[in-house]
This record gives sequence, C-alpha cells and structure tokens, in this order.
Amino acid sequence: MASSQAQPPRKRAKSKKAKRSTLGPTTSLHENVSLQFDRAAESLRIHPGLIRQIKACNNAYSVQFPIRRGKDYVLIEGFRAEHSHHLKPVKGGIRYSDTVSIDEVMALAALMTYKCALVDVPFGGSKGGVRINPREFSTRELERITRRYASELIKKDFLGPHVNVPAPDMGTGEREMAWIVDTYDAFHPGHPDTQAAVTGKPFLHGGILGRREATGRGVQFGIREALSHPGDLEKIGLRAGLAGKRIVIQGFGNVGYHAAKFLQQEDDARITTIAEFDGAIHDPDGIDVARLHRHFQRTGSILGFPGAKTLKDSTEALYLDCDILIPAALENQIHMGNVRRVRARVIAEAANGPVTAAADEYLRQRGVMIIPDIYLNAGGVTVSYFEWSKNLTHMHYGRMSRHLENLEAETFIHQVEALTGKKLDPNARETLLRSHDELALVNSGLEDTMRSAYREIRAVLKRRRKVDDLRMASYVLALERISNSYLDLGIFP
Ligand code: GLU
Repeated sequence: MASSQAQPPRKRAKSKKAKRSTLGPTTSLHENVSLQFDRAAESLRIHPGLIRQIKACNNAYSVQFPIRRGKDYVLIEGFRAEHSHHLKPVKGGIRYSDTVSIDEVMALAALMTYKCALVDVPFGGSKGGVRINPREFSTRELERITRRYASELIKKDFLGPHVNVPAPDMGTGEREMAWIVDTYDAFHPGHPDTQAAVTGKPFLHGGILGRREATGRGVQFGIREALSHPGDLEKIGLRAGLAGKRIVIQGFGNVGYHAAKFLQQEDDARITTIAEFDGAIHDPDGIDVARLHRHFQRTGSILGFPGAKTLKDSTEALYLDCDILIPAALENQIHMGNVRRVRARVIAEAANGPVTAAADEYLRQRGVMIIPDIYLNAGGVTVSYFEWSKNLTHMHYGRMSRHLENLEAETFIHQVEALTGKKLDPNARETLLRSHDELALVNSGLEDTMRSAYREIRAVLKRRRKVDDLRMASYVLALERISNSYLDLGIFP
C-alpha cells in the first residue's frame, strides 16, 4: 500500500508556439486539461501564486490490495485524487476501467472542480478509479473489490459525507454505490449522515429520482440551450432548434443512451448513428433509441439491430457528416491524428476530455462549435448535489409542500373559471396541477442549472474581448469563482 502527494507540472508554456511543439497526435488527458487551464489563465487577472494553487491537485492516494481468485490472488490498484478543497466536501465519481491511472484520475478531479464551480454546485473536485475491467470479474468479486477499496478510502479519510463523496462513473453504478454506503455504515454505525457519504445510490438506500438519467438529461438540456440562439448558429450554418438535426453518438452507456433517448423523444432530433466499442450502427432516417436499448439489453451489443447498417470500425462514426457529434465515451477520441476527418458542425462533449487541446484548436479555427465537457456533462454532479442535500435533511423533496401546492392550484383554477365563466386551456390546467414530486423538482432544478450556466457562459463570451469560444468562457467563469472563493477565505492577499 502506498500513499503519495502528487502535483501536476507547474510550468506554464510561454507562447502558443511552445504549446504546439509539445503536442503529438495524442496528448494525455492531464496534458490537455493543463493546456486548457493555461489558456484560460492567460486571460485572467489572478495572482500567479493563486493560479498555481487552483491548478495543482491537492492530494492523490494510490492503494494496492489483493483479492482471492480461486487458488490465486489478483492485485488490485485503486486511486482517489482530491483536486481542490476551496469548498467541502470534495465530489466526484469512481471509474472502473483497465486503463485508469493516477494521472488520469488527477486530471478528472481537476475537471470536477471546474465543473462544480461552473454550475454553482458547492463542492471541490475529486475523482477515483480502480484499474480493472469490470467485465472480467464476477459480481461477488466486484463486491469484494468495491468494499475493500471503500474501506481503504475510509481509513485515509478519503470518503465521508463531509469530506469526500463519491458517485458513479464509467463502469460503476447504483449497485457499487450501495456497497460503498453499506461499507461506510459498517465503519460508522449510527452516523446520522451515512447516506450522504455517496451519491447515485439505489432509491431505497437514499438515492434520488432522476439521478441515473441526470448526466444524459443535462446533455439534452445543454445542447437544447446552445442550439436556441439563432445568432450564435449563423456562423456554422445551422438553424436554431433540435427538430430534425442529425446526431451521431459515440457511446451507448448510461450517458449516451439517456441523451439519445431524450433528444429523440422530446426534441425530435434524428439519431442517425450510434457507436460502441465493438462497432457502430447507422440509419440516415433515424434509429429508434428505445427499441435499440431493448435490443442491447437482450443481445449485449448494439450490432445486428434490424434495419440499420453496421460499421465494423466504430471510429468511422466520428467522421460521418452530421449536425451534432456527441462523444459520450472516453477521453482523447478526437486528436491530431484524426481531427481532419471530423465533419460535424457542433461537437457536444458528453464525455470528459473527448477532444485533445490541439484538436480543439484546429476545430475552433475551422469554426466548429464545441460545447465543452465541464459544462455539458455537469448534470450528473448537479443531481448528486440534490441527492446529497436530501440525505442530509432526511426528507424527500416535495413531501411537505406537494399537497398544499395542489390545493392552491385547484383553488386558483376554480376561482378563475368561476369569475370568467370560461374553462382554462387544458395545457395551462395541466401545468398548474402538475404534481411537484421529487422527479419533477429534480428535472426542473437541473434544467434551470443548465440554462443559467449557459447564459452566464454566453455573457462572458460577449463581455471578454480575448475569450472567443465556449470552453474558454466556461474556464474563465469557473476559475474566477474558485479564485474569489479562495480570496474570501483570506488565503491569498
Ligand atoms: N462521475 C460524474 C462526473 O464525472 C458524476 C460525479 C458526481 O456526481 O459526483 O461528473
């Protein structure tokens, strides 16, 4: 078992030329986040010492433990990074993947810090990972790994409702979160805030309605908002609105599936292509996402879906002509080795870091609109914040007010109809009587968060001469908020 304090490189590149010279066809997520941070920092008047503090990862913990497999032992490596403690607890998912590393987890933790600041969710950023391919382990083995990993984090104070609150990420879900909360409970029997130690839990163990879909919902709300300003879209030759827009999605996991489903069912977008690791399917008339999901659950693959053409090489999907490309899988999917082949007019980053810093620069020069990850996939942590607050109050949202609100709405409708002698429009009646239950409140809070954040990002774009893309505007907004938070603490003169 080893513990380490790690820091990302401190030196800032001096010029654009210097930056480019370090960039090969692909750069690590850590390098990309660092370059994007530096680009934003250049346009900010923040003390260099404070900028260094905001950029650095505060703590990173690596752990190794064995699990029994038949007569043998397998050594498992786990990580958790805490990027910034300007607000506490720190927050971020746990990823199970055989490519995860301490470097990647530190970069993802930094993105969590910026993401939370951007959508005004009062947490510092963290991230965790276990280097395994979950498909290669049985459920019992996964449970043992998860509980052991959680125990190691608890022992080092890297997990707890007021210090560090994990959530699902790639390769994990409600099941793993339930094991973690149960492990925390075993270490802290009777602790009143145990449920708030983890978010993304099953509903019966303190989860919140809408959390499972939240990242995908946030992606839908974010794209909807970005495509609602006709003036912003003129430059890229697109009309406002989502109806009929051709969308390619890379990744049919929790985020990709929900984003595809909502964009199709509620915004009439045309999902022409969906890519997974084993291939892609394409139908220019649009894929029925709900049916595809059933097919996927039945067969374990999107391939072989009736009526759709199969693309054996799934990366081909990234190069198809479309209005919106949504990378919803891994980082570094669009890089200098393939960016010239990308034809989408809008890239909506549902995944963390799907476009490298150099590819981002190339696409910006070509006028492609990029809706950045730290904004677009913030729906998950936003609803995690609602779940965490619910767990601390021990009360379902809407429980105390729902009945009263319905009574008030009924009285209001009755009065208006009696006074005017006319019946209210059925849609208006339905809106007034709509029950403010937990799911409705969660979705409304999420929509409001995504819309407000986008408006603030646009305002930065308009206000700042040197900032001319959505990613930089998002970073500027986030870094200013984090900086102000440190200054308010009196840490920096
Ligand atoms: N793993 C998700 C993310 O990257 C959610 C994090 C959370 O809810 O804490 O944003």
